[in-house]
Amino acid sequence: MRTSQFPLSTLKETPTEAEIISHQLMLRAGMIRRLASGLYTWTPLGLRVLRKVERVVRDEMDGIGALELLMPAVQPAELWQESGRWQKYGPELLRVKDRHHREFCVGPTHEEVITDYTRRELKSYRQLPLCYYQVQTKFRDEIRPRFGVMRAREFIMKDAYSFHADVASLKATYQAMFDAYSRIFTRLGLKFRAVEADTGSIGGNGSHEFHVLADSGEDAIAYATQGDYAANVEMAPTFPAGTPRPAATALMTRVATPHAKTIDEVAAQLNLPAHRVLKTLLVRGRAVPAVAVVLRGDHELNDIKAAKHPLIADPFEFVAPAEAIALTGANVGSIGPVGLSIPVIADYAAADCANFACGANEDGWHLVGVNWERDVPLPETADLRNAVEGDPAPNGMGTLAIVRGIEVGHVFQLGSTYSAAMKCEFLDEQGKPATAIMGCYGIGVSRIVAAAIEQNHDTNGIVWPVPLAPFELAIVPINGHRAPAVQAEAERLEAVFTGLGYSVLLEDRGLRPGVAFADMELIGIPLRIVVSERGLAAGEYETRLRWERENHAVAAADLLAWVQGKLSG
Ligand code: ATP
Ligand code: MG
Repeated sequence: MRTSQFPLSTLKETPTEAEIISHQLMLRAGMIRRLASGLYTWTPLGLRVLRKVERVVRDEMDGIGALELLMPAVQPAELWQESGRWQKYGPELLRVKDRHHREFCVGPTHEEVITDYTRRELKSYRQLPLCYYQVQTKFRDEIRPRFGVMRAREFIMKDAYSFHADVASLKATYQAMFDAYSRIFTRLGLKFRAVEADTGSIGGNGSHEFHVLADSGEDAIAYATQGDYAANVEMAPTFPAGTPRPAATALMTRVATPHAKTIDEVAAQLNLPAHRVLKTLLVRGRAVPAVAVVLRGDHELNDIKAAKHPLIADPFEFVAPAEAIALTGANVGSIGPVGLSIPVIADYAAADCANFACGANEDGWHLVGVNWERDVPLPETADLRNAVEGDPAPNGMGTLAIVRGIEVGHVFQLGSTYSAAMKCEFLDEQGKPATAIMGCYGIGVSRIVAAAIEQNHDTNGIVWPVPLAPFELAIVPINGHRAPAVQAEAERLEAVFTGLGYSVLLEDRGLRPGVAFADMELIGIPLRIVVSERGLAAGEYETRLRWERENHAVAAADLLAWVQGKLSG
């Protein structure tokens, strides 16, 4: 390919709408262009990278015997009503009507469609297990589309679904998928980690997320400093200290905290660290209108853990501000456990505090020197917060460290949630009807492209891992338009390397070398060969690897072996 025929629409300036580096570089390199919020066109350059991801994904899916199919993007509402998700899914589901006023959605995922397909095909246990996958466009009306293709509304997913006669078979396919995912991210040259993930109401050890590690990641991952425990932070359990609380030394006193709304403002006014100020949040109860949840000021409520508590409503919901005032007499920032007439639950760490501050249930007032049991009964305690750096690790080995990750894949033992609701059945060995057991497995194909850039860039642009590069080799003739021998040699190299199966981008726009180099570096081509009159006279080429800072002078006779050695990874 030549730059005169393959337009590079690179930008010098960083687009102001792009907050994170991958979004900036995808725009600057001309890989994507925005059409509307969360909707992007993949340019010819960007699409080459996307296709490379797809190829590795397909290869590994085919390798474990998954069968590729392609389902419609638009799905009838009836199927979603059968599964119960037409009501449950909420505003992320884009609902549309056809000309006959029939309701449809634009698929955010395909459990319903694959279950409908399979229930029509599946007759006997002899057909099981089955595993299908597709690479396809999804639509989710994300509340906050951002970071370009990282959290888009329309995006490309590889989704796979498996059907089984028994749990043992599900577990075998789950493991095969888990291993295939690990190979995919390894082959793509990404630093990643598989972590335990939430399984919602299904429970068990049946779900893992794959995260590409990057500071810009939206997820926090907790891992043990020793041993191999790793989980999404929302999953990592926390524990009571197991040691007696410090002695109650202070007297409980009422203190004015005018206009202080946040924990930081309260802590500053009281001259206390945030961990000595307890916060009290009102959440919807399962059997009662509201439950008060007490946490240390420096800790975050974990709504997944909360929704699993028998007193707290699932799905999790905060009580509206007006209702909170009616129940406690104070605004959210001034609520506290002393004298509350609604059920109270304290997080383990809050229950371990002594001589703490908390809201006085009157706007603009707090209590300090408060102690459990002496001033307020110790309520029920539970694990209700996100784990933080330094918490004891759940595997009993060392403490937890926290890193940020971008979720690029998710494997899930679904069980019979969809197959039971949609009657996906087969005849078992005894000839009796049985419900299929399912697994589902997603990879964010388009998100991977952005995630890879988060991990692989420098001040000059993208530094593609070789398996993802849109072109493997850039050939830049110096003043080729004025030096026919240089141009001819560049074209000869193009033909040689293309013939060997490498993807080559030949610079032929007559640009100044510095400008051409800047383009090739911005778009991240791993290896550059410069052909010049001086080099030809000396019988050598100047080469540069994208992840290095110096040129190499490679003798003409060695060029082929040098390139092959560098690109074979
Ligand atoms: P997230 O927590 O990031 O919203 P999810 O749990 O909703 O992800 P899944 O339903 O498991 O995601 O979808 C499978 C994969 O699709 C995810 O692991 C992620 O890589 C990708 N994905 C999900 N939502 C988006 C999006 N809005 N834009 C791009 N990729 C996405
Ligand atoms: Mg989501």
